[in-house]
Amino acid sequence: MKKIVLRGGRVVDPAEKINRITDVFIRNGKIEKLGKFSTRGYEEIDVSGLVVAPGFVDIHTHLREPGREDSETILSGATAAAAGGFTSIACMPNTDPPIDSIDAVRFVYDRAKNAPIKVYPIASITKGQNGEELTDMIDCARAGAVAFSEDGKSVANTDLMLNALEYSKMLGVPIISHCEEPSLSKNGVMNEGEVSDLLGLRGIPKAAEEIIVYRDITLSEYVGARLHIAHISTHRSVVAVQEAKKSGAHITSEITPHHLALSDIEVKKFDPNFKVNPPLRDDRELALLRSDLVKGKIDCIATDHAPHAEQDKAVEFSVAPFGMTGLETAIGVIFTEFYHTKRLSLTQIVSLMSTVPASILNLPAGTLKKGAAADITVLDTQKEWTVENFRSKSKNSPFIGRILVGKAVMTISDGKIVYSDGI
Ligand SMILES: [Zn+2]
Repeated sequence: MKKIVLRGGRVVDPAEKINRITDVFIRNGKIEKLGKFSTRGYEEIDVSGLVVAPGFVDIHTHLREPGREDSETILSGATAAAAGGFTSIACMPNTDPPIDSIDAVRFVYDRAKNAPIKVYPIASITKGQNGEELTDMIDCARAGAVAFSEDGKSVANTDLMLNALEYSKMLGVPIISHCEEPSLSKNGVMNEGEVSDLLGLRGIPKAAEEIIVYRDITLSEYVGARLHIAHISTHRSVVAVQEAKKSGAHITSEITPHHLALSDIEVKKFDPNFKVNPPLRDDRELALLRSDLVKGKIDCIATDHAPHAEQDKAVEFSVAPFGMTGLETAIGVIFTEFYHTKRLSLTQIVSLMSTVPASILNLPAGTLKKGAAADITVLDTQKEWTVENFRSKSKNSPFIGRILVGKAVMTISDGKIVYSDGI
């Protein structure tokens, strides 16, 4: 295997408390050493002026295989992820059929063998995501499911959710909760508020999320199980997580780039690419969430990449499916909104997008320490680019046409260059 040295970049690895200009030596797919050493026998890549960080980890990706391979396959999603600087992604189980068995978990690993980066399956909490009977969680965990989630909805039956948390605790595999009380969100299509009133569209109240956040925190504390809250979208949910943490509960949360960059004002365009669940909230909530992130009250960033084929989104806003793509725009949005506005440092961004998400799902990722897999993202913080071309099979991005500043320009997985843009 090739020996590579990344020369002269700013190495940022929060796990090892490193933030300095130095060289990264890669050998046999692993990080060999960091520092100034002889480069004889190594392929030299000049990354001066760029940032070298542990590859990003997305713990909330939707790949559409099996079932809707026209929207995304495991391979196309992983390729899009590599272009966004991700080297590990965990995919949600709401495929058709869902990931709810040993065979389904193995299917994902099998398909991922040809992927440029690592893909980890998340298994569903209930069989068929029907909310009636628990998945064989022990078997799925043994087969390599890295988490359990009913994402797309909540487990409505509280007792069943309690049982799932008990298994989760026993197995040491976390539950990721999509928090939504369906009797409150009903047929809502956007955030409930002034804009939904103005547009005459049915709203989804913030309470629909918050009530399940409170419920699942209560259950998690009762059982003593770890719980991760998916795509948090209200300040009140963040406060609930903070309070639970203070009293010792093992709760973590994630937020998406779109909930940090966009508000429900966008829905005035009636463009289905702005339809997402949980919905884009109002400007006031957006400001609070941004401040929560900056203050360290939200643990990590996850994309909730949700690809949809063009014909599925090319319908009226009210009937379009929920979801937007995100793998290829995440770091550009975060750099533009938080780094260039001096609200987050490089160390904080790498921590939010690599170190912490890796630790939440216990993934072997998120660090450049000696001996770790050489999973690396090289970032150009100054690169201006327009969102227009995608490696994902789907193009339902709310950021199309936007100029972003900052981009992944090289991605290395197990010591192999799997993506390169101009290096
Ligand atoms: Zn969800």
